[in-house]
Amino acid sequence: MAIFKIQLNERKTYPFEIAFMGDDLTLDPEITAQLTGEWFVKGNLRLSDTENLLNFDIKGRLIYPCSRCLKPVEKDLDYHFDDHIDIDGDSVDLTEFINDSLFINEPTSILCREDCKGLCPMCGKDLNEGPCGCTPEEEIDPRLEVLKDLL
Ligand SMILES: [Zn+2]
Ligand SMILES: [Zn+2]
Repeated sequence: MAIFKIQLNERKTYPFEIAFMGDDLTLDPEITAQLTGEWFVKGNLRLSDTENLLNFDIKGRLIYPCSRCLKPVEKDLDYHFDDHIDIDGDSVDLTEFINDSLFINEPTSILCREDCKGLCPMCGKDLNEGPCGCTPEEEIDPRLEVLKDLL
């Protein structure tokens, strides 16, 4: 199990290097990605009387569901985190900042391929594999159907 905590003592600088497996990290619930394979975090924490500076590079591979058809899509992350942080207590848990790095980099939309046709809203068939039996009329979004009835 990888250790994400930096124990503080009298020193001013804390270089760190962590290798971990995707499953080792506790992910924030708002992150839609899954981590896969081996991840690397390498950086430094510098303390001074006026500010605490944390910077690190994070590298690894993520899996997102395709925004249209939900098929898993792999994406590499290579990100540099650099920020002032508040320290409360005698240790710093990097889990929070690693999660921040993942959250900042979440794509608003990710597609398995440019022209992904997505899933049929009626029967759920993956339209990339061919058309389904639904007629165009049946393909009206059920939420719009409700609106139509109200008008
Ligand atoms: Zn797709
Ligand atoms: Zn269908």
